[in-house]
Amino acid sequence: MQPASLRGFMTADVATVERGTDLVEAANLMRERRLSCLLIIENRVPVGIVTERDFTALSATMLEGKPAGTLSDLMTANLITVKADSDCHSANVVMQKNRIRRLVVVEDDGSFCGLVTRADILRAHTSEIEQQKANLEKRVAERTAELEELNEVLTSISMRDPLLDIGNRRAMDNTLADVFERTRRYKRPYAVALVDVDHFKTYNDHYGHQAGDEALIAIASTIKKMIRRTDSVYRYGGEEFLIVLPEVGEEGGAIAANHVRESVEKLALPHEKADRGYVTVSIGVAEERLDGPDQNETIARADEALYRAKHQGRNTVERASSVERQRTADEDIDKPKAA
Ligand code: GH3
Ligand code: MG
Ligand code: MG
Repeated sequence: MQPASLRGFMTADVATVERGTDLVEAANLMRERRLSCLLIIENRVPVGIVTERDFTALSATMLEGKPAGTLSDLMTANLITVKADSDCHSANVVMQKNRIRRLVVVEDDGSFCGLVTRADILRAHTSEIEQQKANLEKRVAERTAELEELNEVLTSISMRDPLLDIGNRRAMDNTLADVFERTRRYKRPYAVALVDVDHFKTYNDHYGHQAGDEALIAIASTIKKMIRRTDSVYRYGGEEFLIVLPEVGEEGGAIAANHVRESVEKLALPHEKADRGYVTVSIGVAEERLDGPDQNETIARADEALYRAKHQGRNTVERASSVERQRTADEDIDKPKAA
């Protein structure tokens, strides 16, 4: 910031008189206009200054019976001047160094311009400090906004999977905690679908890791396109995805999961080492149980359904409830019959 120039703070309205002015006339001028000083000017150039103090000293001399003399005798000559374009700091230094309370301000050609007093300097400093404070506050506000923006960017980076450009486990946990809370509070259902790419190890082995990455990107992008805007998909792990479907029960979840399965099938990514000859996914779907302990239990049930989907030949969707029904039926068969 540029320091304040004297022009903005000096007092320009200063009474000036010629060197030849009569002492009484000068004294009357000061009294009538309640001036504390008078500048004596010669060809527009300041040559001296008289102040109230000078007149007080003069009256003491006159009381002693000494002659009054002229304005030239009374004034302080050899004025210390400062250029109008100087700044308030340098003017202050000059005033301190010379122990003066007023400093005569002149233009570059030496002609009289105004006066600066200590009060003017103080005013300049105060205004400068206020300006600095305002600038500082503005900068702090700008930095705070920048930091908030950066924070948002960082948060969103920390929540995304960089390869697949979908939410990661952290983002998934947030969403699940949210829907779980809604389920508990409003008794609203939600379902999860755990998607696992079939025979992906052999895909990698055969086509290479880079091609494997590209296949995962294509699958993630297809899932994103297939699900509703209110649903969301996350990278659960390696070649596994978790879709969260709020306001949807197991049946609706299975329908959505089937659309996803079909859309991956339609991608027709060649997979020579798989029975079908192209990349497929298996999906396990589970609905949150109102009496379930937490969201992890729902995922565990979806995982169990996924396991069954794999066993049933892959490229299929299994529901947790049918796995559980089947288990109960199996248990009934195994029970020893009552005699
Ligand atoms: P299944 O049908 O039973 O699911 O068999 P699978 O081969 O898909 O299952 P498995 O768990 O044996 O192998 C998963 C493979 O996924 C192994 C791993 O190399 C691959 N994979 C996991 N994450 C990535 C990734 O980010 N990029 C690539 N290219 N491959 C990945
Ligand atoms: Mg897997
Ligand atoms: Mg797999």
